[in-house]
Order: sequence, then C-alpha cells, then structure tokens
Amino acid sequence: MSRYQDKAISDEILEKLSLKNRYAFLNNNLTAILKPEQFNFLRNVQRFCMRFEKKNNIQHSLDEDFYEWIPHFGKEGYVTRAYKFEEIDLNFEYFGLTVDLLRAIAIDMFDPQFDMALGATILAINPVKAHHEGRPEVLKALKDLVTGESPGAILITEPERGSDAVHMLSKCTQNEDGSFTLNGEKIYNTNAPKSKWVVTYACAEKDNGKTMAQFLINTNWDGFIVKRVYIPWVPKIWLGHEYFENLRVPHEYVLGGIGKGRDHLFEGLVPERVMIAMGNVGEAWGALSHAFLYINMRKQFNQEILKFQGVGFTFADLWARTTNFTLALLKFCEEYDAKMEKFGGEIPRNISQAMVASASHLKLEGARLSERTCYECANLMGGAGVCDNTMMQDLVGLSRIQEIVGGTRQIQQYILSMATRQLYKML
Ligand SMILES: Cc1cc2nc3c(=O)[nH]c(=O)nc-3n(C[C@H](O)[C@H](O)[C@H](O)COP(=O)(O)OP(=O)(O)OC[C@H]3O[C@@H](n4cnc5c(N)ncnc54)[C@H](O)[C@@H]3O)c2cc1C
Repeated sequence: MSRYQDKAISDEILEKLSLKNRYAFLNNNLTAILKPEQFNFLRNVQRFCMRFEKKNNIQHSLDEDFYEWIPHFGKEGYVTRAYKFEEIDLNFEYFGLTVDLLRAIAIDMFDPQFDMALGATILAINPVKAHHEGRPEVLKALKDLVTGESPGAILITEPERGSDAVHMLSKCTQNEDGSFTLNGEKIYNTNAPKSKWVVTYACAEKDNGKTMAQFLINTNWDGFIVKRVYIPWVPKIWLGHEYFENLRVPHEYVLGGIGKGRDHLFEGLVPERVMIAMGNVGEAWGALSHAFLYINMRKQFNQEILKFQGVGFTFADLWARTTNFTLALLKFCEEYDAKMEKFGGEIPRNISQAMVASASHLKLEGARLSERTCYECANLMGGAGVCDNTMMQDLVGLSRIQEIVGGTRQIQQYILSMATRQLYKML
C-alpha cells in the first residue's frame, strides 16, 4: 500500500524529502559538534536505516507492521546501545547513553513511531538488566529483548492510578514456594499486546507503595490477558490494557520483592525521562529536516517561501532551539557516561538523586520542543505538512502525546517546584 491516498505534493519535492537528504541536513548540523567516533556511529545507523528502507521498500504506510522490523534492528545492536551487555555475551564495543542518543536520533528520523516502540522496549530492558542477579531465566528474557526477538513493555499505569503511580491497586500475594500471585489491571502500556516479556509492579497492600514489588512476566502465562488500546495520534503503536487474573509469577522472575518495588520504580524514572527527551530531539530534527527541504523548494509569489520573513524567521527560531536542546542533551549524556565509567557502572545515590531534576528539566523542555517544532514545521509546509504524503503527519501525531507519557507536563513541573523548595532549604 502506498503511504498516501492521493499524491498532493509534486514528485520533485517528494523525492527531495528523502531520508538521505533529511539525514544530510542533520549531519551538516552535527558535524562540528560530535566527536569523530560519535559521528561515525551515527552514520552507521543512518546507513543501516537507508538500506533497510530501500531493500524492504518501506513506505511508512499504515498497513506496515513495524514490530516485524525489530529483530533486524536487534541483530545490528540497534535496539539499545546504552550498555555493553556482557552478561548476555553481546559485548558491544561502543556503548553508553551518548551512543544511545545518536542511535535514537537516527532511528527516529527513519520512523518516529517505530523509535517510540523501541524506547518502550528499552524501559523493560533497564530493570531486567539491573536486577537479573545471574538468573538464567531472566538473562534469557534480557537477550530476547536486546536482540529484538521480542519487543518489551513496562506496565505501571492503572485505570485509576496514572500520575499517582505509587499508590497502586494491583495486588501481589506471596505464596509459600516464593512465587507470587497477581491480581489487578494496567492500562496504556506501549507495546504490551505485541510483547513476550513485560515488567510490572504490584503492592502486597493496595495503595501502599512501601509494599510494592517488581516482576518480569511472560505474557503467555495463564492469567495474563491483554487488549489493545488504540491511540489515533500514534496509530501504528500497540498499547495494552491488561488484566492479571490470579497470574502466578515463579520466584525466578521476581525482580524486586515486597518493599523493593518502589525504589526500582524510581530508579527507572531518570533514564525514562532522558529517553523521552532523546525521542523528542529526534522528532524535532525529523520535522525541521522536512521543513528545511520544503521551504527551500516551494514557491509562492514567484519566490521560495523561505525568503519570506514569516517563514524564514520562524524556521530560524525552531532550528536554534533544537540545536541548543541537542547540545544540552549531549552534555547530560556525556556526563552520565563519564560518571558511570568513574563509578564502575553504578552512579552513587547522591549523584543520581541530583540528576532527577536534570531529567525532569529535559523531559519538560523536550516534550515542549517536540510539540512546538512538529506543529510549526507542519505549519510552514502548509497543506503539504498536514496531508498524508510525508512523515510529517506521524511527527505531528507523536508530538501531541509527549507531554502526557512518562509523567505529564504538570507532574514534571510539580517535581521541579518541590525540588526548588529543597534547594532553598539546603542554603
Ligand atoms: C501514548 C501513551 C503511551 C504510554 N505508555 C505507557 C507505558 O508504556 N507504560 C505505562 O505504565 N504507562 C504508559 N502511559 C501512561 C502515562 O504514563 C499516563 O497516561 C500518565 O502518567 C498520566 O496518567 P493518566 O492518564 O491516568 O492521567 P491523570 O493522572 O489522571 O492526569 C490527568 C490530568 O491531571 C493532571 N494531574 C494529575 N495529578 C496532578 C498533580 N499532582 N498536579 C498537577 N496536575 C496533576 C495531569 O497532569 C493531567 O493533566 C502511556 C500513555 C500514553 C498516552
């Protein structure tokens, strides 16, 4: 199926909007900023995406199921590069948060909804990596996730507990053999209907976060029921509404027993927020690169529309903001990697606590950047920006949900306003 119902944009412009040219715009911006090894890695991911798109004749149309692409990206080590993954014998030579930022930008520009699905898989990978304790069953799941054999999902949100994630209603009961029985409901969980492995949380006492535990679940187990929640702004991503009905979790799959779940939940929040910001900057570059090419070609009143101040100056503002945000994110990721190296892979609690505010800063501003840039770039492209001919419609849709996922805008503001008070008290 073609990407569009009717071709509204001329062949000449559509051809110019190719992934190759969009990457070229990004690269011209990043060449002076990135170190040679960083730039080489970015180019390698881009080359892979361009070849993959061409070889498989990918149109990014609604009928393509991009979950089928994940094993191919996994084989190249492009599901995540945040760690070396020596425990599952992958031994990536080039890894870290900075490397993962570059991977995410390249893949987001290839297909932004696909990148979000990979991002949700990474959210499941992080706790499994942190708490496998050498157990072969858990390591097997980790390998499936990192190599793309299965997408992954993280199930935190419940129908009655969204922003207030700590006071969960899902209940876990420990059995004599160390296994747990789970009862409850989760919702809006990215990838869940397509995933073999999911990570979830439940409390021994409803509403009491101090009794929270964390579990790795195989979705084929009895008592795990999942239905799809359809979000029209991201039509190709499968989100789940799950029911745990006396779901038995063998003790080997308990990632954190009663009382440990809440710490594990918070531990995942810093990387989750930074990861959303990584997707956001990819979305902004994706939108900017479309608009950059379009406004240089499209003519009105006998001139390229870029030459009208209303267009050129708007583009200039968005471009500056995106470049500045990229620099901020790069600096954060490089510092994070340096600290991971210095402290042997585990950042001390006081430093990681200090990063909580930075992660909220990045999530708050990243989501805003994506929302404004995608909308404004579509606006600069007129009808061409909002019809179904280009990936701009995917970007605009995806940008609408960024202030909701991973802690809403208001929750980030709430965290930061609390931190403001704490900083004052430290004087
Ligand atoms: C596309 C998509 C993907 C998602 N993926 C996942 C996933 O993979 N895993 C997962 O577990 N969840 C996921 N979610 C759920 C997401 O994290 C929640 O939707 C989000 O946390 C908000 O919860 P809620 O929808 O219940 O809204 P509510 O918490 O009910 O919030 C409603 C409104 O009230 C505001 N509000 C609530 N409390 C406060 C407060 N204290 N101060 C100020 N304002 C407040 C919110 O900001 C919001 O505007 C996803 C959601 C979407 C839309």
